[in-house]
This record gives sequence, structure tokens and C-alpha cells, in this order.
Amino acid sequence: DQFGIQESLKRLGIQSENLGVSTGSKWIDSEASLIASFSPVDGKEIAKVKLASKETFEQVMDQAQKAFLHWRTVPAPQRGEVVREIGNALRDAKEDLGKLVSFEMGKSYQEGLGEVQEMIDICDFAVGLSRQLYGLTMHSERPGHRMYEQWHAIGAVGIISAFNFPVAVWAWNAALAWVCGDVCIWKPSEKAPLSGIACQKIAAKVFQKHGLPEGISSLVIGDYKIGELMSNESRIPLISATGSTRMGKLVSEAVGRRLGRSLLELGGNNAIIITENADMDMAIRGALFGAVGTAGQRCTSTRRLIIHENVYEEVKTRLASAYSKLVIGNPLDEKNHVGPVIDLDAVKMYEEAIRKVGEEGGKPVVEGGVLSGESYESGCYVKPAIYEAENSFKIVQHETFAPILYLMKYSTIEEAIAMQNGVPQGLSSAIMTTNMREAEAFLSVTGSDCGIANVNIGTSGAEIGGAFGGEKETGGGRESGSDAWKAYMRRQTNTINYSSTLPLAQGIKFDI
Ligand code: NAD
Repeated sequence: DQFGIQESLKRLGIQSENLGVSTGSKWIDSEASLIASFSPVDGKEIAKVKLASKETFEQVMDQAQKAFLHWRTVPAPQRGEVVREIGNALRDAKEDLGKLVSFEMGKSYQEGLGEVQEMIDICDFAVGLSRQLYGLTMHSERPGHRMYEQWHAIGAVGIISAFNFPVAVWAWNAALAWVCGDVCIWKPSEKAPLSGIACQKIAAKVFQKHGLPEGISSLVIGDYKIGELMSNESRIPLISATGSTRMGKLVSEAVGRRLGRSLLELGGNNAIIITENADMDMAIRGALFGAVGTAGQRCTSTRRLIIHENVYEEVKTRLASAYSKLVIGNPLDEKNHVGPVIDLDAVKMYEEAIRKVGEEGGKPVVEGGVLSGESYESGCYVKPAIYEAENSFKIVQHETFAPILYLMKYSTIEEAIAMQNGVPQGLSSAIMTTNMREAEAFLSVTGSDCGIANVNIGTSGAEIGGAFGGEKETGGGRESGSDAWKAYMRRQTNTINYSSTLPLAQGIKFDI
């Protein structure tokens, strides 16, 4: 244990067998089955977790509803104070939690720390927000009347999260939902349950210290069946779901049937346009991290490079040379650049995509392959690959959650933008250029159709202050910064008559 994993697990309160259902400080036991969390780093079991069942979910739901009745009456700035302390508790646990994320999910230790930093940042953001949940005032058309709008808490927020950001996605949702006066029920990905348990323990201590009721922060570990229960549960007015487009469509249908609200953060198929006016060092650096960071398992990972024909060969050669220097291995070892993908299913999907791109006529620039032998025993380490491809290939239109990058050529900026937009997903996009006309065209209404459009920055890695999310099959949801908090509240329009007559709107006459 050269990286001190066992010590970190101990400090985070992870045992060899853990309960996976909690209303805060209380953990609920049941007859439900145990699952094991395996690390893709070495393929070994880290610990076991007892899953949620219909019955234990019901207990969590009941307690969440009770807790909401209290929490919604706590003044928002006081709720912010609780979130501030959760942010501080995360600061204290940053190294341990970052290490667990890295070990359980496979991203590099630096990215694990970065993910915890995102949680801290969103807590800070939410603290400020707790004094800024502003409504508007309007001028009434009727004399002696005042009109305004205000925002109220909506109730229990169901959070369904993906494996690739096993802790940050929860914090993005929970920190905002809590200052808004909502309570949270979180179903982490069954592929990274221990990270969920560690977070729940950190938050629960703070709620308990303030003498707050159980049920403001709840955890239900389970697979898609628990996600389905949540989606169909009319006592959960808002489901915030992060994951594949396939999952998002199912959740959206179930929530839609009961006319609930859903906030969807789904798959991306992100491209960087590299123009002939790009600063080439920056373009290569941006493309490299975007494509191989987190082993290509970010929703914002760079999957396509749309390259001007005059610089195409240069980009291709320089990228191939950069890829040849990548060191693949244990993500906790800081000399390695690329860690494993999450599991053997992900390896299969990677191999399948490489087979398909070949079948459709793609040509390898950097060949892929699964690594074996010493330090690759888990079978989850794959070589980042580059293929020359056409945007119209079926496999290029599809999000493969692995480090495979497709190169394509363009001649006019209009053509480049059409290719960038010519996929079903609409999450993140970027242009590398020092030409103001190209940059502005890309950002204009006729430019990128994505929720995120960057200039001289890659597609991956967003800051907390901006609203995060995307269009089309990415689901349309926005989380994190700007006014994303409004999704977690209900808006109420209030008109007050302080005159002694009762005029009707639109001047309608109704006299007896
Ligand atoms: P996934 O869709 O397999 O699972 C995500 C979550 O949904 C898990 O908790 C899973 O248990 C749950 N789930 C699955 N089926 C469900 C159902 N029918 N009803 C309710 N819940 C269900 O995704 P994954 O493999 O964990 O994550 C990778 C995907 O997530 C990629 O597509 C990636 O782009 C996307 N993602 C998007 C964002 C974003 O902000 N847009 C962020 C991270 C990941």
C-alpha cells in the first residue's frame, strides 16, 4: 500500500463491509444483497456495500419528507452557514477523498484532488448564493397594486449520478439544493459506491453538529432499479440525473409521466476546431488533455478534432509524437499520465469502437490496444488511440466513453461549424484561433450549438461560476453557476392589492 490507501479509507470511515443506505448519521441495515467495489487500478476488491431495497428506500423517503418541513423554514443564510462548514470539512478531507476517487474510479490523483476542489468551490458559491436568491418586482397595470415574484423550496431532490465524477456531481446539486431549502436523496453510481459513502459521512457530521434532523442528506446505493423507483416517485418533485443519453431518456419519460421536473446532464460528443490561425502549442496541449485526461471518460472529453486542411498534417504529426510520450499506469503514481478505464465492460466498448471505426474506413494514426502484463493486471488499461475518420461515420456520431480521438479535415469555417454541430449531442465545443472573426463566428447564433463554447481552451474542465450543461441529446439541463439554482426552487408570482377597489386585469368590466 505505497500510496496509503488503507489509511485514507480508515479516516474516511470506510470499512470492509458498509451499509449503503443512510438518512444522515443513521445507517439503515436490511436483508438486501451486498455488492463489491473493485478498483480498476489493480482489479482487487476495495470493500463491500449493502444495497438499498424498496423498503429501505421507503424509509429514506419518509424521513426526507419530514426533514423538509423543518429545513425549508431555516433562513437561507443559515442554510448557507451549514454548507460553508461542509465546504470546510471537504477541505480537511481533500487528500483522502481525492485518493479514494482516484483509486475507486481510476482518474489520476491530481484529477481526484481537482474533483474535490470542485466540491469546495461549489460550496463557496452556494454560501454566497444563500443571500442572493433574488426575485423580481414588476409594475402592476392596476392602481394600488404591487406585483413581485419569489422563490420557494420545492422539496426532495433526487440526485442520480454517473461513475466518472463520483463525488463532484453530488456536490454541484446538493450544495445548491440545500441553500435553496430542499433536501437531497442521492443515488451514486453503483460503480463508485464507496466515494458516495465517504461524502455522506462528511456531510452528516455537519448536519448533526447543528442539531438538524435526519433526512436533509440521504444516500441510497443501488443500481438502475433504485433510479427507477426515484424517477417514478411523485414525492420527489425534481430528479437531477447525470449519465448516458440512454438513461436520460428513460428517466425523463418516467418523470414526465407524472409531470415532475427533470434536470438532465447527459452524454457529449465534443469537438475542437483547430484553425490555420491557431496557436499550435496551445491547440496540441488542449487537444491532448481533452482526449486522454480521465482516460477519455469525461462528459466533456475531446472526441473529435476538426482541423483546417493547411495545418492538418502538422497537427497529426505533433499529436502522434505527444501520444508516444504518454505514460500509462497506476493513476496514484504521479509520473503516469493515463490511468485505467472504469471496468472490463468499458474496455469492451473501447475495443468495439476501434473495430467499428476500422470497418467504416477510418485509418489509425496512433493504434489502440488493451495493455497486459505487470501493473496492468486489472485488464482495464487501454492505449489512447487516434483515427482519421469522417464525421458521418456511425461510430463518430456516437459517444464512446474511452480515449479514442477522431481527426477530420475542413476548408472553410462554415464547414467546420457545420461538422462541429453535426452530431446528436451538444455539450462542449471549442475553437483554437487567434483570428477574431473566426472566434466570434463560432460564438454567434450561427456558430456552435453547444451549452459550452470555448475559445483557446479545450472542451474539458469547466469552472463552477458558469452554468454547466448542454443541448440536444445532452438533455438541456444546467447546473452549478449563473442562475442554475432556479431549477431547485419553485417560482411564485404574488400580486397584492392595497387599494379599496377591486379592478380586474385587462380592464374587464363585471358589475352587478
Ligand atoms: P449511466 O447512464 O450508465 O449511469 C448513470 C446513473 O444512472 C447511474 O447511477 C445508474 O445507476 C443510473 N441509471 C441507469 N439506468 C437508469 C434508469 N433506467 N433509471 C434511473 N437511473 C438509471 O452512465 P455512466 O456510465 O455512469 O456515466 C457515463 C455517462 O455519463 C456518459 O454518457 C457521460 O457523458 C455522462 N456524463 C454526463 C455529464 C454531464 O454533466 N453532462 C457528467 C458526467 C457524466
